Amino acid sequence: PPRLAARGLVRRFGPTTALAGVDVDLADGESLAVMGPSGSGKSTLLHCLAGILRPDAGAVLLRGLPVHELSERERSLLRREHYGFVFQFGQLLAELPAVENVALPAMLLGTSRREATDQARRWLDHLGLAGMGDRRPGELSGGQAQRVAVARALITGPDVVFADEPTGSLDQATGHDVMQILTETTRAAGASLVVVTHDATVAAWCDRRIEVRDGLVVGAGVGQAQR
Ligand code: ADP
Ligand code: ADP
Repeated sequence: PPRLAARGLVRRFGPTTALAGVDVDLADGESLAVMGPSGSGKSTLLHCLAGILRPDAGAVLLRGLPVHELSERERSLLRREHYGFVFQFGQLLAELPAVENVALPAMLLGTSRREATDQARRWLDHLGLAGMGDRRPGELSGGQAQRVAVARALITGPDVVFADEPTGSLDQATGHDVMQILTETTRAAGASLVVVTHDATVAAWCDRRIEVRDGLVVGAGVGQAQR
C-alpha cells in the first residue's frame, strides 16, 4: 500500500462542509504540496491526514492501517511515534533553548535526556545551526527557528512530516532556504512530506501537488523539480 492514503474523506463543521470527498496517495519518500485559496479545506485535510481530526466519513490509511478508526489516545501515540510537524513561525517553546526544543519529541518517546540532547545537537549541526543550540527561539532569526522546527520534526525518524504554511512568516529568499532544507533533509531521512501552502513557488519544491477548492481536489500536477 502507499505510505499514507486518504479515501473519500468528508469532514463537516456544523453547516460547513470543509472536505467533500477527498482521495490522496502519498508514496514512500514522496513530497506533496496541498494548494488552494483560504478556506478551501487545506488545513482540515492536513489535520485529517495527520490523525489530529477525525473525518466524518472516509478512511485514512498509514501503510494500510486504518488511522481513522483509532481512539484519540491511540492517534496521539501514533502521531508521536510516526509523524513530525512543522507549522508557521512561533511553534517552538520560547523558554527552552533550541537543543531542548529539538530533543523533546525523542524524550517523549523514552530516549534518555543525554542521548536525545546528543541527537539534537547532531541534527542542529546537520541543518547549519552548529553552535546555536543554546539560544532560545527569540534569539534566532525566523529562518533559523524554522530549521530548528525541521530538526525537531525529524529527530524521531518519522514516516511522514506534515508542514502547514512552513514559510508563512518568512521573506521569499528565507522561505526558499527553508523549503530546500525541509524537502532535502526529509527525503534523506526516508520520510514522506505533506506541505500545505497557498504559494506556488513554495509548492514547486515538492515532487507533486494537488489543488483543493471547496473541499474537493480539483487539480494535480508535478512540481518544478527545483532540487
Ligand atoms: P484552509 O486551510 O484552506 O484555509 P480550512 O481547512 O481551515 O481551509 O477550512 C475549510 C472550511 O472549514 C472553512 O470554511 C473554515 O471556516 C471551516 N472550518 C475549519 N475548521 C473549522 C472549525 N474548527 N470550526 C468551524 N469551521 C471550521
Ligand atoms: P492555518 O492558518 O494554519 O490554516 P487557521 O487559522 O485556519 O490555521 O485555523 C487554526 C485552527 O482553527 C485550526 O485548528 C482550525 O481547524 C480552526 N479553525 C479554522 N477555521 C475555523 C472557524 N471558522 N471556526 C473555528 N475554528 C476554525
